[in-house]
Amino acid sequence: MTGYTCKYTPIELISAFSEKCVFLGEEAENFEYSQALTHSNFCTHAKALIEEVHRKNIRSLVLVNCCDSVRRVYDVLKGSLDFVFLLDLPHDDNECAVQRLAAQLERLAGEYSSFCGKTFSRTAFFDAFEDEKGLSDEKYIAVAGARAGEQFLKTAQARMPFKTVDMTCSGNRHVGQIPDEGDFSALMLMYARSILSQMPCMRMTGISARENMFNDENCAGIIYHTVKFCDYYDFDFQRVAKASRIPVLKIETDFTTQAAGQLSTRFEGFSEGFSSSGQKKETAARNPSGSLYAGIDSGSTTTNFVAFDKNGKIAASSVVRTGANAAAGAQKAIEAAGIDSSELAYTVATGYGRKNITLANESITEITCHAKGARFLNADADTIIDIGGQDSKIIRLNPDGSVKGFSMNDKCAAGTGRFLENMAKVLEISIDEMAIRGIKYDNDLTISSMCTVFAESEVVSLIAENVSIPDIIHALNKSVAAKTKSLLGKLEQENTLIMTGGVANNLGVVSEIEKLVGKPVLIPEHPELCGALGAALFALEKGQA
Ligand code: SF4
Repeated sequence: MTGYTCKYTPIELISAFSEKCVFLGEEAENFEYSQALTHSNFCTHAKALIEEVHRKNIRSLVLVNCCDSVRRVYDVLKGSLDFVFLLDLPHDDNECAVQRLAAQLERLAGEYSSFCGKTFSRTAFFDAFEDEKGLSDEKYIAVAGARAGEQFLKTAQARMPFKTVDMTCSGNRHVGQIPDEGDFSALMLMYARSILSQMPCMRMTGISARENMFNDENCAGIIYHTVKFCDYYDFDFQRVAKASRIPVLKIETDFTTQAAGQLSTRFEGFSEGFSSSGQKKETAARNPSGSLYAGIDSGSTTTNFVAFDKNGKIAASSVVRTGANAAAGAQKAIEAAGIDSSELAYTVATGYGRKNITLANESITEITCHAKGARFLNADADTIIDIGGQDSKIIRLNPDGSVKGFSMNDKCAAGTGRFLENMAKVLEISIDEMAIRGIKYDNDLTISSMCTVFAESEVVSLIAENVSIPDIIHALNKSVAAKTKSLLGKLEQENTLIMTGGVANNLGVVSEIEKLVGKPVLIPEHPELCGALGAALFALEKGQA
């Protein structure tokens, strides 16, 4: 069994020696083994590859010298496997490149034959060619960009309203059949031409063919995958996102199974853009005797509740600590609002814990609910900055208020409510005090680290140097603002910014964000209730439908 990772790998040639090829594309649980052989900042896909080779005891491997990281994998593994070949893939598809690749294929055939002790079979070679899988004749979502892990692809398929088609660099492999003519060298020349005539990946110089990748009318949306620290596909993403007539969701992963686990909200938020709540299956029976239409935003820190009466007037709301159990947090929020759950005619749950709120009739992601709530709070808002307890997100709205696109940071707590809460503990002040004491400061200090752990040690050393609390808080507000600005990216002149989530109550952070973006940020009354408000609006619509 010979492993491979790239669509340019000549797997038909390996099959001609009656050997099985296995595609290696699984995410890693961790990088313990590979990190010992490389280093912590090494490409996460390359580390996941080393982990998979080790985990599956792969003894022979054909690699394509895609980039420095793959070349490093070759250096690391060539001493420990029975057979490792690094194919020097040309960057072009012109005739000179074809001849260079054909020479490589002949060298591979020779070395592989000595390794496996078998001879090249023309029959087995031609039997290995697969028919081209045409593009789908039904609506589909293209998964594009850098090679994506197995769990990523499975989660995407499970969360999308249409089937997904793997068009990532390793997914859309199609090496066209070649005529059974001429000697071995002639065969390898035709084979090389066919390998290089595939849809070019971002490593190739001639990428104009990629322009039409998503022009198919059945392509309803694009999930664009990039790998952490890998620039190959960032440029292509910018081009695709700019030119695209269909929704594009960018997701960066570090090829770990954990990263795959964090994808649900993004995928669901994206899939909700293709169908309003119409397609959502209800998870609890409606309560015909109820008179209230409620939204529950089950967050990592707080659970927020809003209820409308049948005339669309806000009848009650509350904010409580979620605690250890999302469902219990929801019940606590309902009671804190002075409501009995028997009064609820229809309830929509959102937020991290949304799937665990069993009393809810359906769940909708916080991306779609914040969009709904923010537009209700301000009809001009088109860009939402939402900083919650454990994540921060930017949601861009279409003129009709639907979600145009979004980006999230939930990988680390830096720049979120949890970050400020931790720092308040270090400073031994309350979060409310923290929200106002950083506005007036004497020295404009900067906390350099974006990581909560390192930022904490910076704060501790500032305290040890008797730096004033307002100066430290101001520096922390600046780091949250900087993290938010990097997520926000480029802004157009006409954008109207609104900020939601608990951190919007922190005037120090808001003013630092305004300084960085150079425009005012609207803060609605009770910004922490925006998600629950959006969910309650969906409940009102759905419950009275
Ligand atoms: S970027 Fe290109 S060369 Fe690299 S793995 Fe993907 S398809 Fe292969």
